[in-house]
Amino acid sequence: MKRIKRRALFAVAVSMLLLLGTALYVLKFLVYGGSWAASRVSFAVWQGDAAARGRILGRNGEVLADIKDGRRVFSSDTVTAQATLHVVGDAEGKIGTGAMSVYRSKLIGYSPIFGIYGPDTSGGDVTLTIDAKASAAAYRALDGRRGAVVVINYETWEVICLVSAPSFDPGSPPGDIDTNPEYEGAYLNRAISSTFTPGSTFKLVTAAAAIENIQDLEELIFHCSGGIEIDGQWVKCAGRHGAVNFETGLAHSCNAVFAELAVRLGAQTLWEYAKELGLTEPFSVGGIATASGKFDLADGKFELAWSGIGQYNDLVSPIAMTRLCGAIASGGNTARLELSDAEGISLTSGTRRLLNASTAARLKELMLNNVESAADDMFPGLIVGAKSGTAEVGGGKEPHAWFVGFLDDPQQPYAFAVIVENGGAGRTVAGAVANKVLQELVK
Ligand SMILES: [Zn+2]
Repeated sequence: MKRIKRRALFAVAVSMLLLLGTALYVLKFLVYGGSWAASRVSFAVWQGDAAARGRILGRNGEVLADIKDGRRVFSSDTVTAQATLHVVGDAEGKIGTGAMSVYRSKLIGYSPIFGIYGPDTSGGDVTLTIDAKASAAAYRALDGRRGAVVVINYETWEVICLVSAPSFDPGSPPGDIDTNPEYEGAYLNRAISSTFTPGSTFKLVTAAAAIENIQDLEELIFHCSGGIEIDGQWVKCAGRHGAVNFETGLAHSCNAVFAELAVRLGAQTLWEYAKELGLTEPFSVGGIATASGKFDLADGKFELAWSGIGQYNDLVSPIAMTRLCGAIASGGNTARLELSDAEGISLTSGTRRLLNASTAARLKELMLNNVESAADDMFPGLIVGAKSGTAEVGGGKEPHAWFVGFLDDPQQPYAFAVIVENGGAGRTVAGAVANKVLQELVK
């Protein structure tokens, strides 16, 4: 009797395991079925021209990828094709971040019931949140230089512009793409998959930490004599600002102010703020994971000072900088960045607070003041808050030019980041690119 009972229990246990296994499989099938069907080994989908099903559209209905006579074709406007390459993808599947790879299961018209053999064999359209015209304006403004331009809507958290250069027209890939140094890194989406030395744009992080951790911050007077001595070594400033307070220090991007603030705050605090403000960890952009930034805990005060100015070993991605500017403009919150209507089951959560509402409000004022106090009309007709960066990269090369910020307009809630690699001065070079894109968007 005892033995029978034991065997019965064993049988029950085995069948429970079987049920659990089946349930797990069904769950995985529902979640991943589309990508299994769309996988490169799925002969039905990938024979001949790659995944010749489904169209990819821009947010205003522009056709960015289509099918003609069973072959994949792209935007007939070469600049638009180049500007949207890294979000649309190419026929060979070399652009890993392209919609043609990422949203393959929607494009082939996959459904959990019919698989890819449903009643409609034309596949599904994927509409991107991308503005094709603004992307083309951004690519033109980069004017052959390497870099990235990102624009997001900080109300809806849609990605409006995700441009990376160098690029190429996927409709006619250059024959020498793998050997010509001009195309080096052309398959990479620099806007989300690359990180760069942030330079003075990182002063936003040090400023956020200072606002929350240094009580008499706004009353302090700093001294800049073309730089400041930290631990026996000279931290150089681009200007000679004399007696200067926090607000003016940020407006003039004074290194002396931010070197001293970094030392007061300490490496651990700055590390925590870089993480909290979303710069060092990957996050999802329409289901694509972004590159992780970096903030190393400096050993000495001199290195710590430089790390608070966005040099030393600091690295950030353009998309993370854009998201931070969006959060500053929208009261401290951010949400999952959307890139299309194609994402099925989402396992990540929506909103996240990057910084306190009061800190966001103060940073917003400061960034608006940065642009206003420059007293020139860089952005005709627009109210812009921003921070520039001229990031030293060493090796005798020109610095990276950065310009990050937001449009302070409830009708046009855009946050942006522009980087021009080895472009020179942040404000004049990257700022000019930002202006061209924003002007196109508010037209
Ligand atoms: Zn200075």
